Amino acid sequence: MEVKFIPTEQLKEKPDENALGFGNYFTDYMFTMDWTKEKGWHNAVIEPYGSIQLDPASMVLHYAQETFEGLKAYKTKEGKVLLFRPDMNAKRFANSNRRLCMEVLPEEMFVDAIATLVSREKEWIPTIEGTSLYIRPFMFATESAVGVHPSNAYKFMIVLSPVGAYYPEGVNPVKIYVEDEYVRATKGGTGFAKCGGNYAASIAAQVKAEKLGYTQVLWLDGVERKYVEEVGTMNAMFIIDRKIITAPCDGTVLPGVTRDSVIQLLKSWGYVVEERPLAIDELMEAGRNKTLQEAFGTGTAAVISPIGELSYKGESIIINDFQTGEITQRLYDTLTGIQWGKLEDSFHWTY
Ligand code: PMP
Repeated sequence: MEVKFIPTEQLKEKPDENALGFGNYFTDYMFTMDWTKEKGWHNAVIEPYGSIQLDPASMVLHYAQETFEGLKAYKTKEGKVLLFRPDMNAKRFANSNRRLCMEVLPEEMFVDAIATLVSREKEWIPTIEGTSLYIRPFMFATESAVGVHPSNAYKFMIVLSPVGAYYPEGVNPVKIYVEDEYVRATKGGTGFAKCGGNYAASIAAQVKAEKLGYTQVLWLDGVERKYVEEVGTMNAMFIIDRKIITAPCDGTVLPGVTRDSVIQLLKSWGYVVEERPLAIDELMEAGRNKTLQEAFGTGTAAVISPIGELSYKGESIIINDFQTGEITQRLYDTLTGIQWGKLEDSFHWTY
């Protein structure tokens, strides 16, 4: 892929690595590329980060043909730049685009574009413990038309944001509200795709949970509100009687890269992992009788996020005395160790 480079007139001042937060700062450059029926993929450019122009009739603004991804780049002590399983994000992006009838970006082009932009911006990768460079690739419909049909033009972009440690004081358990009114996804819908519309529809539940004093929601299935699915923007895992249980990826759950990595790690350590529907009633009962030993969410942003409390229909259960469990901590240490190049990458996950 040939990428044109347009230099900026003035580089930005880099933010304080100790006060990055998540998604607040963007680097000097962004990647953009267009697709049309006539020309295919063209106009690959790395240019100064900044506003883009859109026709008011651009289809994305009306019918939300938009997909995105999220992954991170890490800098090792030796100054090497690592990506974590970018091929998995490339595959998921292609699947999301297929579901939304959008043009599919070839997987090698997706990884290539990320690697080219991140190499140019490597000075922006923060180095203090727990920090990284968050990578946000996304695609949207740019045809100017207000009829509902697949757009015949798209723009693919990548922006980069230096981010801080998700939990500056270390991994801490969070309080979760089990949502039994709003749903995130139903079979036949777009739950397995990473599209903006899913997140727009989820905000009402997030706002409700925060008002009630919880950090995130635990989503139940969209038909019976009977089975647990995901926790906020993470996959959810529960350790009951030493077995790890997580919802299967059969259409409603986003197939997380962290989820897949955690399952592989747990199996390699000899644990039994069950990918099966877990009823909220079974989960609450396990909480009451203390066979629920640990619970956590998995996702790129926080990597592993322990769950300390679940509230469902007015009843609260506390998990592992609101402490980070042993397996939860081991998973966090191992995954971040591989991501930051501190531990041997025996699964060949880093790029
Ligand atoms: N579920 C949802 C709804 C998410 O938004 C994310 C974050 N991408 C995840 C799960 C976790 O996926 P990953 O491990 O690939 O970040």
